[in-house]
Amino acid sequence: MSITVSANVKDRSAVESSVNAFMDEVIARAPGETEFHQAVHEVAKSVMPIVQANPAYRQARILERLVVPEMVLMFRVTWTDDQGNIHVNRGYRVRMSSLIGPYKGGLRFHPSVNLGVLKFLAFEQVFKNSLTTLPLGGAKGGSDFDPKGRSDAEIMRFCQAFMTSLYHHIGPDVDVPAGDIGVGGREIGYLFGQYRKLTGHFHGALTGKSLNWGGSRLRPEATGYGAVYFANEMLARRGESVEGKTATVSGSGNVAQYTVEKLNALGAKAVTLSDSSGTIVDPDGIDDEKLAWVMELKNVRRGRIAEYVKQFPNARYLEGKRPWSVPCDLAFPSATQNEVDESDAQQLVNNGCYCVSEGANMPSTPQAVDVLQKAGILYGPGKAANAGGVAVSGLEMNQNAGCMRRSREDVDAQLQGIMRSIHQNCVQYGSNGDGFVDYVRGANTAAFVKVADAMLQQGIV
Ligand code: NDP
Repeated sequence: MSITVSANVKDRSAVESSVNAFMDEVIARAPGETEFHQAVHEVAKSVMPIVQANPAYRQARILERLVVPEMVLMFRVTWTDDQGNIHVNRGYRVRMSSLIGPYKGGLRFHPSVNLGVLKFLAFEQVFKNSLTTLPLGGAKGGSDFDPKGRSDAEIMRFCQAFMTSLYHHIGPDVDVPAGDIGVGGREIGYLFGQYRKLTGHFHGALTGKSLNWGGSRLRPEATGYGAVYFANEMLARRGESVEGKTATVSGSGNVAQYTVEKLNALGAKAVTLSDSSGTIVDPDGIDDEKLAWVMELKNVRRGRIAEYVKQFPNARYLEGKRPWSVPCDLAFPSATQNEVDESDAQQLVNNGCYCVSEGANMPSTPQAVDVLQKAGILYGPGKAANAGGVAVSGLEMNQNAGCMRRSREDVDAQLQGIMRSIHQNCVQYGSNGDGFVDYVRGANTAAFVKVADAMLQQGIV
């Protein structure tokens, strides 16, 4: 259908009061789910002018329908530790939307996981997946299980117990989970092994699999690489690139590691990494050799990032601190939600940072986003900048369905093409006319239009 996207809304306060009334209802129906409210509010602010300007969207109650999950699975996960003690965790799968494809989104194992956190992540995932141009719906799942300090055998037993409850709800054209915080290659292996045993099928019901049994080349790298490609696209509009720039990166897990790898490959210098205990600052840059050491530390020995300064004494450790006080040109928040607050954003801007590309989901608070956008710097929100991971997961599904494998070069070219097209969509829908691109509005609008039209076309179901 033809819709009005550049809504010429004369009465801005009417839009604002519609957003407020809408949010009052969302909050009343889902009290206490603060991260979910935050994610919905950001989208509602972007798209309410379009909803107002297009009666078909209003009448079909598109926004009201999009904020209610199609289905939520909640289950008990009981497992036994190495000492024989029995533990009980909560397991979840939030299926937000299957309008444009099977449910798709990661699993998070972290003690902070609850229904509100997973609803925020599933809601974001709907829009992110829409932006990828691939036929993927949106979901998220996980558990409040804390993998830190657990043995391999305990992780395996937990994953098996988790999958025992989930297996009959997932499948290659139904719902395809992947990794997220606390769920990497090791966990996907245990989850897939149990899925295969229980169903008797070998098919692509999970992505992020190992290369030897159905995984895609570049899937581990994709989110971090994609966030750097997105930064490069934003910088290209100013005739610049990441080459020669200094970057701060938070986190030291999957996304952070491959962000640093790509920054190094493109001639930038990453000077920080972090975890929930603190930040390391290496003024000489975290080159490939140091990064290989970090990968061994985090992925094999499962140690803490503080150990970096013992190995590389030129670096310093900021205990309990985040990286945002360290001067940089570019920043890549790659750890978790709300890890950049208003004063962090102000510090980044004051220290000369002019490009933020989010590897994590919703890492900046609304107040931080305000600071970054008011400063007029390049700001790529997570649902656009970190979509490379799910995009390559989509390619993994595609390879599994066709029993084929793409080369690294092929996947990388596709990933770059997808990040470029997401960027173009953001520019198309987010340009203010004065040269400034509101990437938040651009990403939300481009994603919303596609999902909203699918909802209209598929009727009242
Ligand atoms: P990992 O588990 O591999 O790494 C997470 C990193 O973030 C760790 O260094 C961890 O430190 C740190 N971290 C987690 N929670 C906190 C916290 N509350 N405060 C400070 N640091 C924290 O996860 P990923 O790298 O896969 O995910 C990172 C982010 O990227 C998440 O927001 C995720 O949703 C997002 N993302 C991931 C994708 C993927 O493909 N993996 C795709 C798209 C987005 P510690 O060890 O101390 O907990």
